[in-house]
Amino acid sequence: MSLTFPCIEGRYVAAVDGHEFFSSRKRCCPQCQTRTLTIEGQPVTESYHQGVVCHLVGEDLALALDVELFRPGEGERTAALRLLKRVFAAYPRFFDVVVADALYFDAPFINFCIDRNKHVIVTAKGDHRLLVQDAKGLFAHQPPGRWVDEKDRRTVHFWDEEGFTSCEGVKRPLRVMRTEETVRRRERIAGRWEETEATTTWSWATTLSKRQMSPRGLWRSGHGRWDIENDCFNTLAAHWGLDHCFKHEPTAIGDLLLTSLIAYALLQAFYLRNLKPAARTGLTLIGLARELDRGLVGCRAPGAESLARAP
Ligand SMILES: [Zn+2]
Repeated sequence: MSLTFPCIEGRYVAAVDGHEFFSSRKRCCPQCQTRTLTIEGQPVTESYHQGVVCHLVGEDLALALDVELFRPGEGERTAALRLLKRVFAAYPRFFDVVVADALYFDAPFINFCIDRNKHVIVTAKGDHRLLVQDAKGLFAHQPPGRWVDEKDRRTVHFWDEEGFTSCEGVKRPLRVMRTEETVRRRERIAGRWEETEATTTWSWATTLSKRQMSPRGLWRSGHGRWDIENDCFNTLAAHWGLDHCFKHEPTAIGDLLLTSLIAYALLQAFYLRNLKPAARTGLTLIGLARELDRGLVGCRAPGAESLARAP
């Protein structure tokens, strides 16, 4: 089986993002986070577990490299730095760009990556931020560039400048790119096909210069962060039990999460890299998992059905 990872203009990109795995009002453990809800006028304590995942951004394989659970009272950023320290050491050459949402748009995180020779792309949000104001002011006087993706029926206008030094405390000048993206869709409305348009705007700040990545590459990388939402969290939660607590114990929670991520990576690799296209016709990833499960029925350990399951 060969494993080659897709890159964007020669650069490998990984995303970091947080996720809440499960919550319970009945069970807790020493590593739970807690919140108080008001239900029927009464305060109720809910325990929950969140984690941050580092995930390669790619074309087909959804590949999570590692996960770090939040400790009680801890925020996403603290867990993410702990995770990235471990990932940078364990996979020093797997990727050279980290992409993250606006929560990570600040000097400590960007400098943390610069110090470890990684590039950063972060969503640049917040009108109170000097960098955002500077970029807005400059772009207001510039005509945008433009590209059109006929396949996706998408038109992208973009403004892209580098050399911004107004991100307080960041060790290096940053580049900012803003996009206005219009997607045309044909929708069935009241029995008739109609053309609709939806426009969204995005801004990213990055340590990558224009020479190091084109506007289109930066746009792909920035939106690649959605892979972690779609391929990792949503798919795994909807179909593969990511958000189910099989055993509410801190070590078990971490081990089962990692096992799920490894199993999902192996299953995708087998499906996409090993099965011939003809064999994949009519066989979904879930269908393959069911076939494998059926094949394993005969070799299940005695008593496997009675394994403890937390609600
Ligand atoms: Zn717990």
